[in-house]
Amino acid sequence: MYLKRIIAHGFKSFADKLNIEFESGISGIVGPNGSGKSNIVDAVRWVLGEQSIKSLRGGSVMTDVIFSGSNSRHASNQASITLVFDNTDHYLPIDYNEVSIKRQVYKDGTQEYYLNGEKCRLKDITNILLDTGIAKESFNIISQGKVDEIITSKPSERRVIFEEAAGVLKYKKRKEDALRKLERTHDNMERVDDIIEELKVQVEPLLEQREKAVIYKEKTNKLKEIEIALIAHDITQINNTYKREKEQIKALNEEILKLTSTNTNSEAVMEKYKLSISKLNEELNNLSKQLLDKTSEVERINGQKQIILERKKYQVEDAKLHNSLVSLKEEELNLANQLSSIKRELESIKKDIEDKNYGITKVQNEFINVKNNRVIIENNLNNALKENVVLQNKINALREAIDNNSTLPYSVKQVLNNPRLTGIHNAIGNLIEVSEEYSKAISISLSMNNSSIVTETENDAKEAIKYLKENNLGRATFYPIDKIKGKYLDHETYEKIKHISGFIDVASNLVKYNPIYKDIINYHLGSVIVASDINSATNIGRILLNRRKVVSLDGDVINIGGSLTGGSLKNIRNIIQDKYELENSLKKQNINIENQKKIEENLNDYDSKLKDLEDRVYLLTKEKNLKNDLYAAKEKQQFQISEKLMNIRNEISRTNHILNGSISEEEERILNLYYKEVDEKNKLESLINTKTNERDLKQVELDDYEFSLRRENSKVNSKNKELKALEIEVNRKDVKLDNYLNILSETYNLTYERAKEKYVLSVDEQEARKSVAKLKREINDLGMVNLGAIEEYDRVSTRYEFLNKQKEDLEKAEDTLLEIINEMDDVMKKEFKTSFDIINKHFSETFKELFGGGYGELKLTDPSNMLETGIEIVASPPGKKLTSISLLSGGEKTFTAISVLFAILKSRPVPFCILDEVEAALDEANVNSFGNYLTKMKDKTQFILITHKKKTMEYADILYGITMQESGVSKLVSVKLEDL
Ligand code: ATP
Repeated sequence: MYLKRIIAHGFKSFADKLNIEFESGISGIVGPNGSGKSNIVDAVRWVLGEQSIKSLRGGSVMTDVIFSGSNSRHASNQASITLVFDNTDHYLPIDYNEVSIKRQVYKDGTQEYYLNGEKCRLKDITNILLDTGIAKESFNIISQGKVDEIITSKPSERRVIFEEAAGVLKYKKRKEDALRKLERTHDNMERVDDIIEELKVQVEPLLEQREKAVIYKEKTNKLKEIEIALIAHDITQINNTYKREKEQIKALNEEILKLTSTNTNSEAVMEKYKLSISKLNEELNNLSKQLLDKTSEVERINGQKQIILERKKYQVEDAKLHNSLVSLKEEELNLANQLSSIKRELESIKKDIEDKNYGITKVQNEFINVKNNRVIIENNLNNALKENVVLQNKINALREAIDNNSTLPYSVKQVLNNPRLTGIHNAIGNLIEVSEEYSKAISISLSMNNSSIVTETENDAKEAIKYLKENNLGRATFYPIDKIKGKYLDHETYEKIKHISGFIDVASNLVKYNPIYKDIINYHLGSVIVASDINSATNIGRILLNRRKVVSLDGDVINIGGSLTGGSLKNIRNIIQDKYELENSLKKQNINIENQKKIEENLNDYDSKLKDLEDRVYLLTKEKNLKNDLYAAKEKQQFQISEKLMNIRNEISRTNHILNGSISEEEERILNLYYKEVDEKNKLESLINTKTNERDLKQVELDDYEFSLRRENSKVNSKNKELKALEIEVNRKDVKLDNYLNILSETYNLTYERAKEKYVLSVDEQEARKSVAKLKREINDLGMVNLGAIEEYDRVSTRYEFLNKQKEDLEKAEDTLLEIINEMDDVMKKEFKTSFDIINKHFSETFKELFGGGYGELKLTDPSNMLETGIEIVASPPGKKLTSISLLSGGEKTFTAISVLFAILKSRPVPFCILDEVEAALDEANVNSFGNYLTKMKDKTQFILITHKKKTMEYADILYGITMQESGVSKLVSVKLEDL
């Protein structure tokens, strides 16, 4: 390969297009100073990619290479140089015999490169030339400057030329790049370290705060779950007793009202009694007064009678007889009086006895009545007790059935009871709660799946199946939570049917369950519709084109496709049904117990009433017997007095007969008057007696009334007490309910209905209460919690981790860079040493050849440090002592430097080499030597010599002349050696 042609246009002094054709071998370019010869060197360097305008001897910008105009010529708009290489030997790795490369710059600074006329990048050109040794900094172009550099440089600077020759500059550049990168990496690392340190200070306390916040959140969430479920549960419970107590209050109020009105009646009766007693007292007062008057009248008449009797005593002859007759008469009147008193008394006693008898019969009848009623109530109690026993047995049986899952198939029970199986939740029927009215519909909707088992994972189900199989325990169906997806009624369908008469809801909405079973419950019930009755169910089924299952509250089913299933449900027994039965039985039992209590209270009332009645019969009978005794005694007395009276009257008649009317009319009248008054007085006394008895009787009855009223009043009081206690209890519950509802709405923003629906108590109530208290205590113990710490920690720790990762990357990058640097160093050392040794060897040869003897050698100033060692040139021209280059003559120095350059060229041959007046300082003999050397080398390398020396020109195969005829513009002229 050789440089075949240079086409310059608009470049520096080449205003016109200039076409220089070269041959292989040695070409010479000659011309006067300033004609533009060196511009050719610049042109070649420029095309090869020189970017430094200084190296191109320009001003400050690349457009300085464009022809800047002269006195007679305008400046060019662009500059372009094309190098055309002969590539018939395919030295360049490209499938062309001729390769052209072109660089062009425009006034506006735009630059373009072309390879064989095609636009390309500079990189494409350097890539092609890379392995050929043709490069802007290579030894293609050797200027006088380069020669001077070799001579004048210090050993340490001189090594740069050798580095260039050894081709290690690229490694050096890469090493510098790597070092720069290393420095940058290091800076980055320091920055990252600073931030990491700063973050570390934040991360540790944040981690602590975060852990606390996470615990706080976990605990508050757990608390929320349990507390809401517990509150919802408590509200339901309290509400039930609250309602019941309210009813009890109502009943008590009614009872108290009834009792109070009965008492008011009794009070009215008592008032009547009091009134008649006071009337009787008044009457008695009057009678007493009358009696007092009567008594004084009797005494007055008795006085008169005594006076008459005294007076008569002396008028009558037979005074003795007369006195006896008067005494008899008096006795007769007295006895007659007594007799009539006794008669009255007997009548009064008889009436008393009759009254007592009547009273006894009345109380006895009442006793029988009360007793009969008590028997009825006692029967009621016995029935209630019996019913209770039956209910308790049923409750026990249901509880046992539920606890032991007795309605579940054997296989299902075996799985549920095996503690070794993991992830077994429960049978579906045990996981839902359903109110009575929907229980049939839900049981039927679930059908056999009541007994299907819910597991945590598919694997848990597989393990359970394995267990059933291995132990031959039967079959069961499993629904793993992690696999089953719920089936739902689409919104459109729901909207379509929700207003149809008889539509109740989707079955899954009618059951309560823990939200973790949402998918499983919806898988079974999420697309089943519940309707009020079979007609509505068929209607809804028809509207949905029988694409959905519809179940009536009675358990009739409209299947998908339209078939109907229904009939009696008597024998159905499953968990749901059992739970519902248990709930119902418990309710019934509660009512029964209340009832029983009431009956027992009633019985007690009856018993005390009976006791009262018995007491009253006893008292009345006792009083009657006393009266009977009194009556008999009075009768006897009456008989005795009658006898006495009869005897007295007989005697009077006899005495009268003897005296023959010796009692005067006056005596008779006074005596009769006297005994009449005595009789009236007796009558009065008897009346007073009767009235007193009547009053006393009334008083006893009044006392009776008062006693029973007091008893009834104490009953009212006890009922009032009971009522008060209940009212306090209801108020307490009211406050409690308000408090719970407040917690729900204010703390959890929930209504009771929503809470009840979403949160189901999954553990025992007592356990839940303990958990709530424990969690609240634990949350309180946590103290101040920074919830933002969770996010803040995530943010900071992510950044912290990111930066640590970045630090790691930077460390790796640093290691890699250090490795690269070390590798570079190794390569550079090796290449440098190898190249130096070769060049050194060639130098001593070239030196000898050029100088025609003598000795030349290159020496490393510090062989131990191959990367930095300087290079000393030791030269001993023939016959001279071995000496340093600085001690040589100017020509010797140049020639030694040329020897070095030629040695380098020998070590790294290049296809062409431009030598810009390098031999200017040589004498003729040395020029000859120089020329001969080139001639010897020209087969390997094409030489283009820029020279003023005629002797040099003699060695050129072809000569070109550059002139500047037209001022400022270089021209090419043909030159013949003879002409010079
Ligand atoms: P010497 O023999 O003295 O080394 P030379 O033949 O090598 O001379 P060069 O250095 O190649 O000459 O050419 C320099 C000439 O090119 C100068 O006359 C300079 O004015 C001219 N020149 C350089 N750049 C431009 C430019 N951009 N536009 C016009 N002329 C330019």
